[in-house]
Order: sequence, then C-alpha cells, then structure tokens
Amino acid sequence: MIGAMLGEIDKIEKEGRHKWVYSYGNGEVEGDPTMRNLLGGKGVGLAEMTQIGIPVPPGFTVTTEVCNYYYDHGNKYPDDLWDQVFEAMGKIEKYNNKKFGDVNDPLLVSCRSGARVSMPGMMDTILNLGLNDQTVVGLATKSGNERFAYDSYRRFLQMFGDICMHVPHSNFEKVLSGIKEKNKVKLDQELTVDMLKDVITEYKKMVKDTTGKDFIQDVKEQLKAAIHGVFGSWNNERAITYRNLNDIPHNWGTAVNIVSMVFGNMGDTSATGVAFTRNPATGDKIFYGEYLINAQGEDVVAGIRTPQQISKEGKAAQHSDLPCMEEAMPALYKQLDEIRDKLEKHYKDMQDIEFTVQDGKLYLLQQRSGKRTAKAAVKIAADLVKEGIVDKEKALTLIDAKSINQLLHPQIDPKATKEVMIRGLPASPGAACGTIVFNAHDAGVKCKDGPVILLREETSPDDITGMHVAKGVVTARGGMTSHAAVVARGMGAPCITGAGDMIIDFDKKTVKFGDKYELKEGDWISISGDTGEVYKGQVPTVEPGISGDFETVMKWADDIRHLEVEANAETPRDAKQARDFGAEGIGLVRTEHMFFDPKKIVSMRKMIVAETPEEKKKALDELLPYQTKDFEDLFTIMDGLPVTIRLLDPPLHEFLPKTDEDMETLAKDIGVPAEKIKERAAGLKESNPMLGDRGCRLGISRPEITEMQAKAILTAAMNVAKKGVKVYPKIMIPLAMSKRELQVMKDIIDKEKAKLEEANNLQIPYMFGTMIELPRASLVADQLAEYAHFFSFGTNDLTQTTFGISRDDFSYHDVYRKQGIIDADPFAVLDAKGVGKLIENAVTKGKSVRPALRCGICGEHGGDPKSIQYADSIGLDYVSCSPFRIPIARLAAAQAVVLNKKK
Ligand code: ADP
Ligand code: MG
Ligand code: MG
Repeated sequence: MIGAMLGEIDKIEKEGRHKWVYSYGNGEVEGDPTMRNLLGGKGVGLAEMTQIGIPVPPGFTVTTEVCNYYYDHGNKYPDDLWDQVFEAMGKIEKYNNKKFGDVNDPLLVSCRSGARVSMPGMMDTILNLGLNDQTVVGLATKSGNERFAYDSYRRFLQMFGDICMHVPHSNFEKVLSGIKEKNKVKLDQELTVDMLKDVITEYKKMVKDTTGKDFIQDVKEQLKAAIHGVFGSWNNERAITYRNLNDIPHNWGTAVNIVSMVFGNMGDTSATGVAFTRNPATGDKIFYGEYLINAQGEDVVAGIRTPQQISKEGKAAQHSDLPCMEEAMPALYKQLDEIRDKLEKHYKDMQDIEFTVQDGKLYLLQQRSGKRTAKAAVKIAADLVKEGIVDKEKALTLIDAKSINQLLHPQIDPKATKEVMIRGLPASPGAACGTIVFNAHDAGVKCKDGPVILLREETSPDDITGMHVAKGVVTARGGMTSHAAVVARGMGAPCITGAGDMIIDFDKKTVKFGDKYELKEGDWISISGDTGEVYKGQVPTVEPGISGDFETVMKWADDIRHLEVEANAETPRDAKQARDFGAEGIGLVRTEHMFFDPKKIVSMRKMIVAETPEEKKKALDELLPYQTKDFEDLFTIMDGLPVTIRLLDPPLHEFLPKTDEDMETLAKDIGVPAEKIKERAAGLKESNPMLGDRGCRLGISRPEITEMQAKAILTAAMNVAKKGVKVYPKIMIPLAMSKRELQVMKDIIDKEKAKLEEANNLQIPYMFGTMIELPRASLVADQLAEYAHFFSFGTNDLTQTTFGISRDDFSYHDVYRKQGIIDADPFAVLDAKGVGKLIENAVTKGKSVRPALRCGICGEHGGDPKSIQYADSIGLDYVSCSPFRIPIARLAAAQAVVLNKKK
C-alpha cells in the first residue's frame, strides 16, 4: 500500500522538493508508523489505521516541521507549502468524489492539531470547514437535511471565529443563549432551521463588531487561516502550561491534520463517541466508552447532553439506565468491537479511540494509547501478558513508572466511620481530604494553607493549574472521559465526576450536597475516587501495600533490572517504609536531618557557639549518645543491607535561629549572652553558602565534629553487631574535591576506629567512599578512587555546580525552556549532555584505579525514570531515592533495560 505512493515520492525526491504534506485515504498512505515525530500522534495513527484496513475518512497531515519552520523563520511559511496543501486536497477530493467549495455538494474537512505526544484538549480543532453562505445551501439540498446543514455552519463559524479570529468563546455563547431565550427553547437540539439562521446572522454581526472583519467566504482562504490558527494553538497558554507540567519540549511543534468530515449529526442513524478498549480506571477488560446519537465532535465530552454507554458491561458498571450502543446499534457495535480487538493486537496496548457513525457507516477518527490510572496500568500489563498479546518486557514499558506512586497513596480507612453526602462516578482513584474551593485561582491561593479540594460544574483546560494544586476534584457534570477525569487520572489525583446532586452557588461560594447538606468555602470534606463518594469532614485514610498484580509486575521488574535501588532515609519510619517498598539498602543518610530534632538541636547550637575546646567537647558529648542511638535504629531496621552515612554537610549557620527573638530564647536556654549568639551567627554568615564552609570542609576545619560522628557510627555498628544484626556501615564524605581531603577525613575516622577496636577487642569494618558533587571531583576521580571504594553522585549539587545555577533561585526556568536553552529542568531530569559527561568521566577514571568501585546516584534524580534510564545506559551500579519513589525506581530500572536494549 505504501508502494502505491512510492512513484510519487520518487518523483518528489528527484525534483528535490521538500515534502511538507503527507496524505492517506482508501488504503493508500504516504509516510509510515516510524514518522511520529514528523506527523504527530494523531496523523500517524490515522495513516496507520488506513493502512491496516480500518475505515478512516481520507485526509492529509501538514508536518511538525512546518510549525517549527514558521517559528524559526520570523512567522513565515515555506514558499511551496500551500501548493502542496492544495495538491493533497485534490487527492482527498478524488477519494471522496466531491469538491472542496462545490456549491452543490461541498466536501467539508476538519482541521485538527496533533503533536508527537497527545496533549488532550490543549490545542484547537475546527470542524465543518468549507462551509460558506453558498455551500451551506448545497449541503442542505444534497443531504436533504436543512437543519443539519445550518447547525454545522453555525458550529463552524463559532470554532473559526474563536480560533482564527480570536473572538472569545463566551461571545458566541451569549448570542446563542440570547436566541434560545428569545425563542423559549432550552437545548441546542431544539433550535429550528430559522433559529439557526438567526444565530448565524447574529454571529456574523457580533464578529464584525468585535474584530471589524467579515467571516472568510473563500474556502481556500478558510483552509489557510484554519491551518494557521491551529499551528498557533501550539503556543496558547494552556498548551504551554501543559508542556511545562509534562516535560514536553516547546520546540517539538504540532502537526495539522486535515480530515474529510463525516457527520454524526445527520439524524438518528448517526452518532459520535469516544471509547477505551478497557476500563481506564480499573483496567477491567470491558469495552468502556460513551456515545451520543445525532451529535458531533466534542458533544460527548462537553457534558451538554448525558452520554450513553457503549457496551452492556459498561452500562452495568456505570449504573446507567440509558440504552447502550450494543443495544441500540448492535451491528455497528459488533463492527466497533472487532476494531477494538484488532487495534489492541496491532498496537499491543490499551487504546483510546474516537469514532463517528454517519448514516449507518462507521469511521474511526483517532487512536492513541489510552491514559489510565496506575491501578489500571498494572492490571492491563498483567492481563496483556496472560492473553499472550505482549511479553513481560513490553508489558513493563506500558506502565508509566511515575504514576505508580498513586498505588502507594492513601485510601479511605475501611474501618473509619463516615457520612456519605453524595455519590458520583469514580473517575480517578485514591482518597483525599481538604477544604472546599470553587475555582482554580482560589485553589492556588488556599493550597498554601493546607490541602484543598476543587469543586466545579465541569472543568476546562483553564482549570489545569488549580487541579494541579488541589488534592482532589469533584465535578457535577461529565462522565468517565470528561476533561476532569482525564486530567486527574494523568496527575494521579482522586477525582469524582458526574456528581449531579452537587449544586454550587459560585457567587456565594456555597455548595449543596443533596437536600441535606449545605457547606461553604473552607469547610472540610473527604472524597474517594475509588467509590465516587463524598464524605462529610475529615475521614481518616490508610496507606496501602504492594500486592496482587502490582506485586507480580514488580517481580518481573526485579528480575530484569540491573540497577540496584537504595533509599535516601534517616528516620526509622522512612527506613522501614523504604524496606517495605523493596529498597536494597540506604544509599544516603543525611546526618544533619537528625540534628533538627528539638532535643538535639540545642546541643548542636551549644557546640556552634562554644568558644573553648572544652565547651565544644561538652556539647558534642551530649550529641554522641543521640547520634549513636539514631544509627543503631537504622542499622537494626536495615539488618543485612548496607547503610551509607554521609557526614555533616550543610553550613553551620543553618542550625542557628534566624530571628532576634529566637536568638534571645536560645541565649536563655543555653545560658549565654544573646550578643554572643548574634555575633556567632554574623560570623558564620556567608555570601555564597552553597559554595561555602560546608561538606568535608566543615569536617576538616572542625575535626571534632567528624570525630563525634565517626565514633557514633562505629559504636552503633558494634552495639548492634553484638546483638546479632548484620551491619554494613558505609561512611561517605560530602563535597570532596581532592584526594588529600579524603585522606584527612579518613585519618580522623580511622583513629576513632582504632581506639574503639582496641577498647572492645574486636574489628569494626566499614566502607569508605565519597560524594561526587563538584566538577573538580570528576576531573581528579582517579585520585579520589585511591581512597574511595564507592562514588555517590550527588546530582543536585553536581548540577548546581556544573551549570553554575542555583537550584533554589531558578526562577527563569520557564523562559529558558521556552527559548529552547534547556529541554527540561536539569534539577528534575539529569542533564545527560553536560552533567552526565562529568559522571561518565568520573566512573571511567575511578574504575581505572579501582575496578570494583561502586557507582551510583543519590539525590532527586535517583527517582526520576528518565535519569534512571540514563544511569542504566552508562552502567552505574545503583540509584538511591526517597522511600516513596523506590517502587518507581525499581520499575524504571527494568524499563531502562528494555529501552536501552532497543537503542
Ligand atoms: P482533540 O485533539 O482535542 O481530541 P480532535 O482533533 O480529535 O481534538 O477533534 C475534536 C473532535 O472533533 C473529536 O471528537 C473528533 O471526533 C471530532 N472530529 C474531528 N475531525 C472530524 C471529522 N473529520 N469528522 C467528524 N468528526 C471529527
Ligand atoms: Mg481527539
Ligand atoms: Mg550535596
């Protein structure tokens, strides 16, 4: 089938013409499935479905290259673009046997965005393009359905006016509701032909008043303007926000798809719908979706009419009483169900599809991998293996590693007493408690004081920032595929949709749940996205564990991953949690966190303000037993596994109180004059504390601290070993940059070790290693490896010191991404091109001196899937991350093996 077009492509290549447009139709396609970056997800999907024999209306794709060309060339399109566009239009005219702009039987098209990865609802689409004052008459006559023709025209004017002429959507809504009111009709479907004609006249007038311009009547000019408008939607505010939140580079650009229109709004033998091949909330293998008879495009998700279920099973799951498609259109349902199966087997994944039935004939309009909850992802992965559709390796890659922390998030405590106020649809699982807010802006403000739950009629892309900060979302309208449901599932936040008994008064900021409950902004509620229930007040929640399909899948991951996964933990609670989640040791104990405990901080502060060695020693002697106990606890919990302890790292001023008042209180508490504390704080102040007297510099300039810590670690190891605990202490030096520093630190530790060993007449082995956080450390890594048995890349600091950018003040980060200077926040995703080179250099140099050198990453990147893939690709031994990221890291490490093998 591709062959059918090869002649054409050859010709183009000979002429040296750059190809900006790819078409498909009637089984013939240009381009192929590997061209996702060029054609976008939607475009490649339409072409591929055409190729495998699924009915798709003919169309063509204007590539992402054109989008980028436009922005790179001072807002100009390539010279030959429009020729190629109209040539492709000629092809779809032929496939449809209809002409674009024909006044008797016009071909209409949609103009749709479509980026490399799906950005649901973030960009724009224009339907029914090619209608004008003449062609609408032709469409009416030809279809024998005047109402349909004028309804399509008014929809087109609305979308075109909004997207290409930038007239606010609400202006159109105002005109429409004005005419409905005048004619005393409630629903869009009740508008008669005459009323629709009125709407059209009023729309035109309103647009002329607002913009000073007329609607374009020339269909070719309409097409150009529409393509331009849709490219423009790549840079609308919601799309930019969405990309920032989802780490999608701003320079990918979108493609534009021109697709022959098929009409779901031609009467009762027509319909439109969206469906998932499996339940996206639970993963159950039921055909799961919604459709509407006699409707177009977005009507299903827009929440204007209540959509009906696709299958009987879906109907049962949703407790719907409306007839489902399986009942109302059994033959078409059967055809759709076969396509469902074919698509899953072809794409080897659960699919999300859009379809339209035009007068009894079915067309697919979109395909993509379905977004799903973590719970569904895990079940689907396990089921697809059981069904023989994918192997274990492929199955693991179908789970978004980041999402699985949803499975570790709280559920409503089954034992708690709770009062159900209302029920809606369980659209995204998990439980949350919070205070009520009614809009995105308030959510942004109030979330600073505590958890909030966002209540809306329905969400739109403008609510996205509010949804992001809220702990959960409840909407009065919408189904399982509504905007709120899709976005919440993507974010892993609990969500309830279609809670029809929730009546919000946005002006008064109050809400009624049924007849019985009236609450106001700031009142507490709890929600369960698993049951769809909204409870009164704060209901206790519980943490779930790893079991069932989740356990199965994690076992597959453990079987194939190479990287070991350790935890960053210092409290017994975190250490225990990490072990439960499968940590294979502690990769980073930040000892300073242990000093912030109220009892310990006083001794720490005494030590800092002490003037004489005796005073200092006294304060440290107070700290010693605390530290020893801390380490004993950690060693005991991690029995049999290594525990890597980093000696004191932050600059000392961080331990002193900040305000005068607090300093005076401290002065009283420890019996020194307040002046002395203020003096000390002033003396410790550094203009660049991140590059200051910290890390091993501190341990060298104040050796008594290192002595105390070494003594505490080794004593603890000895004490627990005596009780039969298998203990593997590792002592790690922060912020080293020279071999001599390691030598000095090691000497101090070894002196303490010798004293203890002699006094107790036994050996206390430990492993010595260093953090690599400075470019110089990488450059002299071979020398460091003479002392260090392991390197732990502290990638937060290493990123900071390599870029010379402060992590805490990187406020221009969005500008940098927008300008294409950075692809992603380097503090979230490891910068393989720069920082990575320092890591690779250190590993190579280190191993040249000590082949058994153990290398790993600790710090935020240790739990980030992309960074983990990078760590695997350069053969690191381990990553270490916070306890709640351990399962993510285990899965990501397995995915890394699969993905790196493919490369
Ligand atoms: P999004 O990317 O936001 O999903 P789409 O481009 O898929 O936007 O279009 C929005 C809606 O319009 C979808 O429901 C789709 O089914 C419908 N639609 C798009 N193109 C056509 C077409 N050629 N014929 C009929 N319906 C269409
Ligand atoms: Mg779509
Ligand atoms: Mg550091």
